[in-house]
Amino acid sequence: MWGKEIERVLISREEIAARLEDLAADIAGDMGGSELLVIGVLKGAVVFLADLIRKLTFPVEIDFLAVSSYGKSSVSSGVVRITKDLDYDITGKKILLVEDIVDTGLTLSYLLGHLQARQPELLKVCVLLDKPERRQVPVQVDYAGFAIPDEFVVGYGLDYAGRYRNLPDICVLKREVYQSSRS
Ligand code: 5GP
Repeated sequence: MWGKEIERVLISREEIAARLEDLAADIAGDMGGSELLVIGVLKGAVVFLADLIRKLTFPVEIDFLAVSSYGKSSVSSGVVRITKDLDYDITGKKILLVEDIVDTGLTLSYLLGHLQARQPELLKVCVLLDKPERRQVPVQVDYAGFAIPDEFVVGYGLDYAGRYRNLPDICVLKREVYQSSRS
């Protein structure tokens, strides 16, 4: 039904839902009771953020940033451009940055610098997926959903060429589909 490009389900929707409960409990334990602004990175973090905030048992506000990475679609070039900035002034605020995946760490590292420059009171990072093998720069991750191997994944917000964001499970894309665009 999802087509010939998908190799297999890596993390099922049930596993994601269960892990979200734990992540939300950890976040609530650390940051609950304070006024929290949850910032999602468009577009990949939209599905994750939408589910995560509804597991939090205290009121939060949300905002979004959009970034575009120059270069090929399945590999980070490390050159990041903000294509939509925040609506809120985050100075003095408690922030939870929500990202879909940390791979080389270059995108998150750039984003953290960008946000820290605005002097929030507290800045924590929550990623759904982490590919530790691929890290090129050390980067702050306070909450991570799943560590995954070095495979290109789609679904639950993550895309390939704009497709598969609405796939409910996290799936591995067949290597031959994306290897031609990977250096
Ligand atoms: P980094 O800068 O850490 O190398 O890459 C972060 C960005 O690369 C993510 O926000 C995401 O857009 C993209 N990315 C890295 N690995 C994957 C993957 O396996 N699947 C998808 N769909 N995007 C990925």
